[in-house]
Amino acid sequence: MASTPPEAPDQPTGRFPRVFQQIRKVVATVRSDGAWKMPDPGTIKRTSIAIWMVGPMITLPVALGVAVHRRYIDPKAVALLGGGYLVAGLGITAGYHRLLTHKSYKTTSPVLEAIVLTAGAIAGQGPPSQWAGTHTTHHSHTDKPGDPHSPHVDFDDDWRGVLRGFVHAQVGWLYEDPSPITVKHVERIRAGSATVRWLDDHYLAVLGAGLLAPGLVAGWQGVVWGGVVRMLLVNHATFAVNSICHMYGQRRFETDDESRNNTFIALLTQGEGNHNNHHAFPKMAYHGIGWREYDLTAYLLRWAENRGLITDVVKPTPAQIAERIERLKASAERREQSERQTEPLAAAAD
Ligand SMILES: [Zn+2]
Ligand SMILES: [Zn+2]
Repeated sequence: MASTPPEAPDQPTGRFPRVFQQIRKVVATVRSDGAWKMPDPGTIKRTSIAIWMVGPMITLPVALGVAVHRRYIDPKAVALLGGGYLVAGLGITAGYHRLLTHKSYKTTSPVLEAIVLTAGAIAGQGPPSQWAGTHTTHHSHTDKPGDPHSPHVDFDDDWRGVLRGFVHAQVGWLYEDPSPITVKHVERIRAGSATVRWLDDHYLAVLGAGLLAPGLVAGWQGVVWGGVVRMLLVNHATFAVNSICHMYGQRRFETDDESRNNTFIALLTQGEGNHNNHHAFPKMAYHGIGWREYDLTAYLLRWAENRGLITDVVKPTPAQIAERIERLKASAERREQSERQTEPLAAAAD
């Protein structure tokens, strides 16, 4: 007797964000007798990610359509979009990334720490400890198994694989649960700061306030342009560092990963696109080396240091950079050599 095939797993599979499967699955939790059954926490999480992603993408064309139809867009709303983009973007770069995750500088006052981390929370990329924990794992496993958002791990080299890798690194990884390593990092980061714990625990309220506050200045247009559309643009710019800056750009340093310096993404992300520099010197406060590499966050940090607002800014000297270049070159040569040695063995085993 033929055995019945195992039932298909109830969870969405694959790496693409399965927005529509999620929504269908929540709808399906209304049982045949019409009674509502609470979806499991994993489904709730993935559905909220779907709504969070699709909502702004629908809002933008609708808002543009209304603006064209009325031949009017509130200049205050446009100013709030630009200002909000910079505030939330710098909150991520100066706050979540360079202060909380890499400790590239110290603030002289806990109030300042709270301000920059709150600006990061408003961006809508998750509570601070989760962001920093995930990013710490990205640095320890860059483009290797265990990297939460590498466009290279488990993807083929053909165009389909490249596209799937890009989508996974941009947004698809958000659907995956954090690894045990990331969970440990999150716990450690939470334990280290009362400000982080408070922002973690009040994250949705802070995020909601950031979306609604522009409405006080410019009504519904403020909420749409300064809140929802701003969130869409900031988040995709940041996530492009995970995807594009591990795929396209220049490599100044021969790091053991696929990180790249991408000028266009650096312009969009207040300097974070100098991502190969960052992987070579993760603790370095300035990601741009020299004036040619745009890094608005570095200008802000220099300004804050000159006014005594921050201290202990990590800045490698030219000699340290030259030494690092040599060390990375030597380890790249060693990697190449060991690959050359293992190739004939692999060919013999085939
Ligand atoms: Zn990276
Ligand atoms: Zn980093």
